[in-house]
Amino acid sequence: MAKPTVPASTQFEAGAPAAAGGIALCVPELRGNERAYLLECLDTNFVSSVGPFVNRFEREFARYVGATHAIATVNGTAALHVALLTAGVEPDDEVLVSTLTFIAPVNAIRYANAWPVLIDADPAFWQMDPDRVVWFLETQCRWASGELRNLTTGRRVRAIMPVHILGHPVDVDPIVAVARKFGLAVIEDATESLGARYRGRAVGLLGDIACFSFNGNKLITTGAGGMIVTENEAWAARAKYLTTQAKDDALEFVHGAVGYNYRLTNIQAALGVAQLELVDEFIAVKRRIAATYANAFRDMAGVTPMPAAPWAQSVFWLYTILIDDAAVGKGSRALLRALAAAGIQARPLWQPAHRSPAHQHAVMTPCPVAESLNARAVSLPSSVGLTESEQARVVAAVTAAVSQ
Ligand SMILES: *Cc1c(COP(=O)(O)O)cnc(C)c1O
Repeated sequence: MAKPTVPASTQFEAGAPAAAGGIALCVPELRGNERAYLLECLDTNFVSSVGPFVNRFEREFARYVGATHAIATVNGTAALHVALLTAGVEPDDEVLVSTLTFIAPVNAIRYANAWPVLIDADPAFWQMDPDRVVWFLETQCRWASGELRNLTTGRRVRAIMPVHILGHPVDVDPIVAVARKFGLAVIEDATESLGARYRGRAVGLLGDIACFSFNGNKLITTGAGGMIVTENEAWAARAKYLTTQAKDDALEFVHGAVGYNYRLTNIQAALGVAQLELVDEFIAVKRRIAATYANAFRDMAGVTPMPAAPWAQSVFWLYTILIDDAAVGKGSRALLRALAAAGIQARPLWQPAHRSPAHQHAVMTPCPVAESLNARAVSLPSSVGLTESEQARVVAAVTAAVSQ
């Protein structure tokens, strides 16, 4: 077998640059006002978590999503942690979350000392399956004295965290409906799907509170960063309070709760303001990349192009295909090895959380769809800066690998 041309340690890491001549999976695109705004930070001495860019980034991000309040955080995982606390999740509560996701939301539930209830993906669009959510809440729990309790564990169910993976929204209407019925909070993990829409409504406004990420591989980046958005004024104030060490009196250092040092810095926010100016352009490019891949893979035996629901406006954050082992004569991992040998970064979808050693004590529900997707999926290079000839190289490498 040919040796991969990129170091094994970074080969599958989104955000990592490709080796010389290689094609990266998903790297930042810094071609706007980033440099000018960063210099402004240096020239004004505003480099830390106080500064005009932090407030401006919050204001402009809220306007972009259409939200009333936005609170900037050090990263998306911190945003999820604080959103859970803000939504009233308490120790020993249970929170329903997608099993097929990057691990951060599942970890965040544990940071709040609550327990994840892992929910399968739907086979059509790979997102949290609303039928499984309704099944769990209606048949595995009992409503008594104003609370919903898991019949098996006896613990209180407090919230649902749908994760809009890969740029595509979850079918959230049935999830919000059942959440309303049982008084549960809906916390959107929108970290992979900034700009996506669900039945015409922006992702981030579909539940009670939502989180975004500006990690290096996301649609826009601040190096590391996150954002909480909500329409609830009291929750917005609480989230801001918890992310800034829960200061009641800044002069006398009086703290009314155990807070966190989760505030974004002005330097990162400067990057964020510049990146946000380009977000619509970036989304248009992602959709163009997706259309080219879809065209190439539409009639390729054994390859399923990335789906998009008729009710979704996906931003195709990371374009992903499924490989049918039987039809192709090789599986997704063999394709990954062939792409690596050709200097092309690609990766499988995340190990579903119900298989994760880190979460073996989570509440499990049957998740056959997530397992099947995990076995078959390959995410392909999707950087905003991906050139047409690079994309043609990826298509040619996939074609060669599946037709051998
Ligand atoms: C990226 C991501 C996050 C947050 O990641 P950070 O690196 O902490 O900003 C959370 N959830 C999902 C599904 C993600 O992909």
